[in-house]
This record gives sequence, C-alpha cells and structure tokens, in this order.
Amino acid sequence: MRDFLLDDADRAFRSEVREFLQRELAPRAADIEDRQDWSAVKHVVRALGEAGYLRLMFPDLYRGTLTSPGLTHATILSEEAAYLNYAFETTIGTALSCAYPLHRHASERLRDAYLAPILDGTAIGAICVTEANVGSDSAGMETRIDFDARTNEWVINGFKRYISNASVADVYIVYGIATGTDPSQAGMTAVAVPATAAGIRFPRNYTFMGRRGCIVGEVEFSDCRVPADHLLGEQGGGFRIMRGMFNFERAILGGSGLGVARSAFDIATAHAQRRQSFGQALGCKQLIWEKIAQMSWRIDAAELLTYRATKMYDAGADGKALMKEAAMAKLVATETANFCANETVQILGGDGITKEFGRAEQLYRDARALTIVGGTSEIAKYLIAGRDLPDIRINL
Ligand SMILES: Cc1cc2nc3c(=O)[nH]c(=O)nc-3n(C[C@H](O)[C@H](O)[C@H](O)COP(=O)(O)OP(=O)(O)OC[C@H]3O[C@@H](n4cnc5c(N)ncnc54)[C@H](O)[C@@H]3O)c2cc1C
Repeated sequence: MRDFLLDDADRAFRSEVREFLQRELAPRAADIEDRQDWSAVKHVVRALGEAGYLRLMFPDLYRGTLTSPGLTHATILSEEAAYLNYAFETTIGTALSCAYPLHRHASERLRDAYLAPILDGTAIGAICVTEANVGSDSAGMETRIDFDARTNEWVINGFKRYISNASVADVYIVYGIATGTDPSQAGMTAVAVPATAAGIRFPRNYTFMGRRGCIVGEVEFSDCRVPADHLLGEQGGGFRIMRGMFNFERAILGGSGLGVARSAFDIATAHAQRRQSFGQALGCKQLIWEKIAQMSWRIDAAELLTYRATKMYDAGADGKALMKEAAMAKLVATETANFCANETVQILGGDGITKEFGRAEQLYRDARALTIVGGTSEIAKYLIAGRDLPDIRINL
C-alpha cells in the first residue's frame, strides 16, 4: 500500500495540488525543458505563491485550508512537481531553502523585505554555500564575511559556484567565515544579500546534462557590503543555520526523488503492458517483472523514509535529532530515482533514449543531479553511520 504514513488530509492535499500543477505546470513543462523558458518557470512560481503553496512550511504565515500545514505538505508539493518537471521543482526547493533561514533567523525588517516576496512568488531566492575549492567539505569554505564597525556593514569577499537561480534571484543567503577564525566552522556566518548590492557579480551560468530550465551559475562577491541587520542569527552561528537548512532540504529532496522515480515507473509499467514482444506483452517476461518489482519496492521504501522524516520534522524534531532520518530519505529516494530512470530507459529500448517517444531520456538525465545536490550520497552515508557509531569520530 502506498501513502502509508499520510493521513486523509494529506491525501486530499495531494489531489488538490496535483490538479493545480496539471493546470499550471503541465502545459509549460515542455517549454521549460526544450527552451529553458524562464518566464514559464516564473509564471508557475507566481501562481504557487498566489495560491499560498509556498507558505506550507511556515504555519504562522500560512493562510490556506489545511489545519496543520508543514514539511509533509511542502514535500508532497515537491513530489508532485518533480513528477511533471524536476527542473521546475528545484526552483521551489531553492526558494524554501532561502526562505527557511529568513523565517527563523532574520529581523522583522528583513523578513518584510525579502521573505514576504519569496512566499508570495514575486521574488526568487538563492543559497550560496558551494565554492570552487569546497563542495562536500562546506566547513572549509574560503569566502570571508567580516564586520566593518566603522560603517556598520558586513563585507563579503568570495566566489561561489553551482548556485541554483544565480543571476535571476532577488536575494542570496551567503555563508562565509570571519577572517582568522579557527576552527573555521566556529566562525561561519550567514547574511542576506540582495541582487542589487554593490560588489555582487554573476560571471557565468553552466550547461548541465539535465535539469534544463533551472539556471545554475557562479556568484562573485568583491567587497560586497550589506547593512548590519542583514545578519541571520548571530555572528558565528552560520553552521547551525546551515545544518537546519540541509535537514529539511534533504527531506524535500526525498520528495523530488520520489516524483522522478514515480514518473519513470508509470512510463515503464505502461510500456511493459502495451508493447508486444515474442508474441506476448513485454511485461509477461520474468526479466521485466524483476525490474518492475525492484522499482516498486524501492519507491515504497523511499516513500516511507521520506514521509517518516517529514512527519518527524512536523512533530518538532530538528538539528541533530533529524540528521540521520533526513539523510536516509534523501539517499534512498535519490538513488531510487536513478535506478528507476535507468531501468525505464532499458525497458523502453530505443524509445527510452529518443526525445520523439516520450520523457524517459529526460528523467534519466534529470535524475543524475539528485545524488549530488544537497549533499552527495557518500556524505549522506557518513551522516547515517555517524549516528550509528557514536563512540568514534568518522574520518571524512
Ligand atoms: C545542479 C546543481 C545545483 C546546485 N545548487 C546549489 C545551490 O543552489 N547552492 C549551493 O551552495 N550549492 C549547489 N550545488 C552544489 C552541490 O551542493 C555540490 O555539488 C555538492 O555538495 C558536491 O560538491 P562538489 O560538487 O564540490 O563535489 P566534491 O565535494 O568535490 O565531491 C566529489 C565526489 O567525492 C565524494 N566525496 C567527497 N568527500 C568525500 C569523502 N570524505 N569520502 C568519500 N567520498 C567523498 C563526493 O561524494 C562526490 O562523489 C549544486 C550542484 C548542482 C550539480
């Protein structure tokens, strides 16, 4: 049985959001994929904002019909969006990763200026962690964020890469280290930087094998200055903020993986029942049954782990208490997406690798990013084993 951990209200919400996305996203999905149509992405973000769906994670700001909205519903939204177009879904995930620290750690003035427009779908957010010399090992980042007491400003110098929504976002949450801090993790600080700040530049965007339509590129900060109140939380509190952000981002990535996996599974099962081979439906062959069964149990496992993590978060678990469960959800769902996309291509044969006969090839290309973004599969395994081996320090 699917949806085991969801209740009737969650299921009703899924139907509602599915209908909404069929109306707003489905007709634009091909343009996002084929023409990387950013105006189509913005249109759907705006529609989601107007409908209140970008507020699901923030019960105090939510104004819709759900009695207890939360991460479970945000993840259902991501799953349903990724089912139709994973590139588009990344824009929602990134918006929430930007909104989360603003909601929890920003001043009232900053929330009004930056959070409200993101939740209304009129502004786009971005998160700047990754650098040329630092990816998984984020605590070793080289970007400097120092306070200039003379002008009462934060001064940012550094170079970030692989930043989703780079150059099109209105606000960037930037992580950096105060000069001279040792260990560096203790000096990590997070600030909000508007796209209009002097000293921010966008050298280039990248071309990826998948996720077409989601803009990803570089952001450079050269003596970039923001007022003192653009600090999130406290100076040196950046690592804790980042850990909280990664927790819920990984749970949501469980939803993204599930959406891609389910999309592939539906294509594979339809084809296996329709396509005739050696006088029978392809799906009658035991080797094909094996592939379908493998996809099926992996999707169920991913779903159980993903919604366990979201339900735990909604019940109040966070920080270290959620790290292992969020990592498991992300690991299993994103590996499942890759497994299902790969097997679907194989079941479809030539049709699986041509654009003319459907979306299997797109899902295969899109899925590949999932085990890298938001912390790789390897890093997820460290987070899991770290809880299971409490008496030793895992050597990363
Ligand atoms: C499409 C896309 C969008 C992205 N969006 C954003 C964004 O919006 N904001 C942002 O800040 N970043 C973003 N990223 C960056 C992403 O988070 C990083 O790519 C990811 O964390 C991995 O870092 P890396 O690419 O530098 O790889 P590395 O950290 O260099 O890792 C390379 C490989 O080595 C493995 N590895 C690393 N350390 C170990 C170890 N100790 N033991 C075993 N294996 C190890 C990794 O698992 C990986 O397989 C994005 C990336 C992509 C591809």
